[in-house]
Parts: sequence; structure tokens; C-alpha cells
Amino acid sequence: MIVTITMNPSIDISYPLETFTLDTVNRVKNVHKTAGGKGLNVTRVLKQLEADVTASGLIGGVLGEAIKQDLDQTEIKHAFSSIKGETRNCIAVLHEGQQTEILESGPVVEPTEAAAFLQHFKKLAATAEILSFSGSLPEGLPTDFYSQMIQLCQSKPVVLDCSGAALQQVLQGKAKPLLIKPNNEELSDLLGKPIGKDPVELKEALSDPLFAGIEWIVVSLGAGGAFAKHNETFYQVTIPKIEVVNPVGSGDATVAGLIDAIAKGLSPEEILKHGNAMGMLNAQEATTGFVQLANYQNLVEQINVTSV
Ligand code: ATP
Repeated sequence: MIVTITMNPSIDISYPLETFTLDTVNRVKNVHKTAGGKGLNVTRVLKQLEADVTASGLIGGVLGEAIKQDLDQTEIKHAFSSIKGETRNCIAVLHEGQQTEILESGPVVEPTEAAAFLQHFKKLAATAEILSFSGSLPEGLPTDFYSQMIQLCQSKPVVLDCSGAALQQVLQGKAKPLLIKPNNEELSDLLGKPIGKDPVELKEALSDPLFAGIEWIVVSLGAGGAFAKHNETFYQVTIPKIEVVNPVGSGDATVAGLIDAIAKGLSPEEILKHGNAMGMLNAQEATTGFVQLANYQNLVEQINVTSV
């Protein structure tokens, strides 16, 4: 079983408007609401890949219940831990080809709730084959919370997709994730200097002692594909040009592809192809965390993975 973790999920609301006018009333008809958060995007793609997946994390209040109902409707298994605070709404206003977002910071987690989650998580991790943690930590949790969670996994493989202090803490911690998937910007933030897409520069960046002990580092480069380090081997992943509809969540779809391939015991080249194919398939759809698998084979055949 694959366990996905979303510590600060949301109900994502999209408001399509022909024009968005400030300081007056804007009325909207076609409101779309879904369970959101990076880990839930990963979960949905894994479900489409027919993986045995269970979603977990923290939820609270009526919006927390709405997340459970949304997952039930798509027959996705879940095992969340409840908190007093209310799960958040995240609003995207789609107007005149633009997207204006209003993101609530979400609930503040109490120390007793954090401790209860860790107990719950330890039991869940014992039943998992591989785990993925995605997205930011809610307020109230210490920045080393993911690090504490990795320690509780007792050497089970963890795929981690987060940024900032939470990622720094994991990299400095003793228990290491199997794989991290920073994008260009996150990699630059980690190393405190801009890192471009040049393979020589990327090779040097991924050789930084900060990444010691991490088996897989996959740097996603948007339309530029990806660059990866697996043990001591570096890989350049080149992808064909595609027609993009909505690239939001492509990183999450990539993470789902990587986990699925790792769980199936595929080779490093196949893992990278599968991950990138999922990212591209997501970019070709309007809905975040949705992939049209009928296009899979055609895309995979056009992805090149070379060791550099
Ligand atoms: P997000 O935070 O929105 O989930 P990200 O920044 O983590 O995204 P990206 O590097 O943008 O991740 O995308 C992940 C993968 O998806 C890329 O490595 C690539 O395979 C595919 N992809 C993303 N954007 C495009 C694009 N415009 N054209 C082709 N493929 C894309």
C-alpha cells in the first residue's frame, strides 16, 4: 500500500468570471469545488494508475468532512487524524485568462493534536510499502515535523515534496527520505543561489553535501523536463513539446508517477519516464491531478533519459 500525506489540505474553489471587478459584487454560476492540497493531487493520480493508495494527514470541521466525502465519491481510501481547527478554503478566481488566488493559511495545530497524529501515523506507516509527504506544514507544527515522521517510518521509503524550512530540516536530519523532487526555484532556495537548467550547473548543485545520503534527487524543470541524481549517476530527461492546458499540479502528478514506478520495482530510466509522463499528462488537462492515460504510451515513447 502507498500512503500519501497532506498535512494542510483544502477545499479548492474555482470561480470562473468573464470579468473580475474590484470594489463591487461579482456573481458566479459555475462554481467548482474539490478536495485539494498537493498530497491529494498525488493521491488522485495514483488512484487513476490503479495503485493501492490511502490518503492521510490532518482535517477539521465541516470542510474536513467535505474532503472525506469527496474522496469517498472517487473511492479513495483515507485515514485522516482530526483536529479542532477548520480545514481551509483556497479560492482561485479565473478571469480574462488570468488566475487570482486567495489562499487561507489554514488551522493552527495544537501540540496534543500533533502528538496524536504522530501516534496514528506510526501505525499507518507500519502498514505501508512506500509513503509520500507533500506540501507545507500547517501553523503550530515545528519545522522538523516531516523529519520526525521519517524517523517513525523505520527505514520505509519516503518520497518528499516540500520546500523551505521543512525541507532544510529533513536534509539536515539523520533519517533520510528515499527521494526529493525540488523544482528549479526550490533547488535555488535550498542552495541560496540561482541554479539554472544547465546540466553542468545542476550536476554540481546536486553534488552539494546537503544532499548526502539521499538516493534520488529529481529536479523538475517544467517544459524543460527534468534532471536527476540516483546514487552516483546523473540523468538528463528530455521531453517533447506539448500543448499545455493547465500545468498546475504537474509536479504532484510527477511525484505520483515516480512513486508508482518505484513501488513496481522499475529501472531508474523507467521511473524517470513514468514520472515525467504523468507530469506532462496533467499539464495537458484543465483539471489539476487528472491524467488522460490513453495518451500515455505515445508520450513515454518521446521521452529520452540519458546518463550524463
Ligand atoms: P507544481 O508545483 O505546479 O505541482 P512543479 O513546479 O513542482 O509544479 P514542474 O517542474 O512545473 O513541477 O512540472 C513537473 C513535470 O511536469 C515536468 O518535469 C514535466 O515533465 C511536466 N511539465 C510541467 N510543465 C510542463 C510544460 N509546460 N510542458 C511539458 N511538460 C511539462
